[in-house]
Amino acid sequence: MEPAGMEPAGLGTGTEGTEPAGTGTGTEGIEPAGMGTEAMEPAGLEPAGLGTAGIEPAGMGANGIEPTGLEPAGLGIAEKEPAGLEPAEMEPAREAEEPPGSPALPAEAPQDGPPAAALSGEGALPGRERERGRRGAGAPGSAGRAARGRARRAPGRRSGAESVRRAGVTVDSSKAKTSLEALKISLRQLRWKEFPFGRRLPCDIYWHGVSFHDSNIFSGQVNKFPGMTETVRKITLSRAMRTMQDLFPLEYNFYPRSWILPEELPLFVAEVRMMKDSNPSWKPTFIVKPDGGCQGDGIYLIKDPSDIRLTGSIQSRPAVVQEYICKPLLMDKLKFDIRLYVLLKSLEPLEIYIAKDGLSRFCTEPYQEPTLKNLQQVFMHLTNYSLNIHSGNFIHSDSANTGSKRTFSSILCRLSSRGADVKKLWSDIISLVIKTIIALTPELKVYYQSDIPAGKPGPTCFQILGFDILLMKDLKPMLLEVNANPSMRIEHEQELSPGVFEHVPSPVDEKVKVAVIRDTLRLMDPQKKKRKDTQNCKLSNSNFSMAAVDILYIDITRRWNSMGIDHKESSNPGMCLQAFVEAFFCLAQKKYKALPLHKQVLSLIELCECRLAAVHGKRLVWGCGLAEPRRALPAAGTAPGPGCTGPPQPHGHRVLRLQKSSQLRALMCRDRTGS
Ligand code: ADP
Repeated sequence: MEPAGMEPAGLGTGTEGTEPAGTGTGTEGIEPAGMGTEAMEPAGLEPAGLGTAGIEPAGMGANGIEPTGLEPAGLGIAEKEPAGLEPAEMEPAREAEEPPGSPALPAEAPQDGPPAAALSGEGALPGRERERGRRGAGAPGSAGRAARGRARRAPGRRSGAESVRRAGVTVDSSKAKTSLEALKISLRQLRWKEFPFGRRLPCDIYWHGVSFHDSNIFSGQVNKFPGMTETVRKITLSRAMRTMQDLFPLEYNFYPRSWILPEELPLFVAEVRMMKDSNPSWKPTFIVKPDGGCQGDGIYLIKDPSDIRLTGSIQSRPAVVQEYICKPLLMDKLKFDIRLYVLLKSLEPLEIYIAKDGLSRFCTEPYQEPTLKNLQQVFMHLTNYSLNIHSGNFIHSDSANTGSKRTFSSILCRLSSRGADVKKLWSDIISLVIKTIIALTPELKVYYQSDIPAGKPGPTCFQILGFDILLMKDLKPMLLEVNANPSMRIEHEQELSPGVFEHVPSPVDEKVKVAVIRDTLRLMDPQKKKRKDTQNCKLSNSNFSMAAVDILYIDITRRWNSMGIDHKESSNPGMCLQAFVEAFFCLAQKKYKALPLHKQVLSLIELCECRLAAVHGKRLVWGCGLAEPRRALPAAGTAPGPGCTGPPQPHGHRVLRLQKSSQLRALMCRDRTGS
């Protein structure tokens, strides 16, 4: 454990915050501190949509406690990365997004027909059954029992075949460190096979406590991306956010103005002076945070740039100085922040899920706006659990909606009962999360390509991130930081006598964190991926799997590109036109076997056009907020092609549109679930 920043020294282990990064061996108890292809998995999971997409209501139980689940964030990302997309991401938002605390809407009903049903996190369970499970899980003080109960009930809910299938997934937990306990519970619930001491044979999933490099892995999936810790460090994050703020100031106004020390100290001084000159009534406060620090370590507040502690430490330990948010939303007169769990499932294509529930960490002294007198009061200004646990006012509670650590859904519920627009808040949070990950993506890709170069054997990666968010008085969410290794501990500390702590189970932590890990594992289920790879391409009548389509695409593209043909699309590294034509003819021959070639091609063009028109119509409606789907173009004598249910299109538009190989890829991918 790390000592706290401003005041209390010598602290115990926090259940919250980031696991401090470092060198530990993993035995000492305290650990040193991607666009989608997949359909969603059962229970607890919900696809979320980028800015728009299908956020499922959480279905409040009568006891006011919320279920947790991950939500895929599918937004405009679909627009950016057509290749490899599945309807999850292509299926942008439903109009009525519901935040986790929403009491009104039923949890079980996917609203958009087949694609949404495929995404529904709980698709495997009948609605009422699911609801009952949720209520059981939510009973105060019963999280552990409920979790175990769920595990026992699980076989009854699944078909025998599915139980057998799930037992086949192997997970190496030997490097899980402080997330081990929550991982074990999740694995028991899923009935997956844990290898606590590692395994000589490869495992399907490797669960690392700290970093990608915790062990050498050449296959399977690992729960860390290379370079993530470096990418989300305070300075790197601030730099990435600054770049985006320079490019898109309005889109990225959810991150406080920040300067990097020591290099930007003169800039910081000059800008503050300028702003004060232009607005003499501006009385700002700033927060200084050492780079690489966590759990409040080394943080202090200042009123003036001259107060920066220019001791040796600032030179040796770079920091970020940031505008302090003076008017946070208070609850029970206390400042609090939110820890949300976000799964980066894949970088390419980019696929993001957001857990429906998170934690709210409360200060332990009533909040006052910063003055010279109260600047030092950590229990008033810093929400870190690891600090506030040492306040005499800290309240441990086994209930999700009282005490110094509560579920985020309980906060939403309370806000909702006060008439706050929690739907908008949730959608703002989703867009904050997505924009932040978009800002981090370029750097992550550089690390990824250097550690796992294309064509070399290596694992695929996913990662749970902890987003720390502060709500302003007007409910605007502000990003404080991103944690690469959010604590997954499910116990808290209790002070038996002064300075003597013991660890006791924390039902609130267990409820939220086990759900996050379990849902993450479900999303990463390798057997599901295999199933998907064996799905057939609906552009073909034969047994032509999507994996075979991928191979066809790669083979033809590579062959034509190796011929060195200048295909005038040098900005597009994908298929040249000739390769596209060959692939298209090949698919046409597979689908319309009995026809002469020109009829095969024409039929496939018609089919593709109809589907493109349908996709485009949906994008306009959902992606751009238009009220009506695009109207059909004049038919110009064309009849809908075979299998086409969309509006007919004039011939003149066909070839041009279909020349884009990415569109063909998008079509193929869409067809994976037959949408
Ligand atoms: P650490 O990684 O050390 O926890 P954070 O950036 O999360 O560092 O900051 C610690 C705490 O300080 C936050 O949980 C929050 O309560 C407070 N805090 C951080 N930045 C700001 C800010 N810009 N405005 C107001 N409070 C902040």
